[in-house]
Amino acid sequence: MDSDQSIFERIMSGDIPSELLYEDDQAIVIKDINPQAPIHILLIPRVKIPRLVDADESHQALLGHLLLLAGKMAKQLGCDEAFRLIINNGAEAGQTVFHLHLHILANKSFEEGQLATAFG
Ligand code: 5GP
Repeated sequence: MDSDQSIFERIMSGDIPSELLYEDDQAIVIKDINPQAPIHILLIPRVKIPRLVDADESHQALLGHLLLLAGKMAKQLGCDEAFRLIINNGAEAGQTVFHLHLHILANKSFEEGQLATAFG
């Protein structure tokens, strides 16, 4: 096993099981193993970009794809009227897996002004 592989790369290669909701040639969508809301899914690009700040112009189309996919997944899951889209960038912001991913959280009440505590 390549020890530099992220957990998400191991999920994509089938080493680690996951609840797969969607996949295409650029990304996969899985349920979070430790959900913080009734709907908590992860949109993960197949290419490992460690953090959002590590993305560059070559990733522009991919980042757009992930945002559009977030909207499509929200519609598919029936939470398109109210969901949160979160990217943790850096350990101090709560990032634990250093392979860029977008969290969609929904079906819980989000208090006004509680962004920092809405997740985690
Ligand atoms: P971060 O804290 O890096 O923004 O988010 C990482 C997320 O990945 C966490 O919400 C965590 O629960 C999830 N996670 C970590 N390991 C696994 C795993 O093996 N399977 C799944 N489905 N989710 C995982």
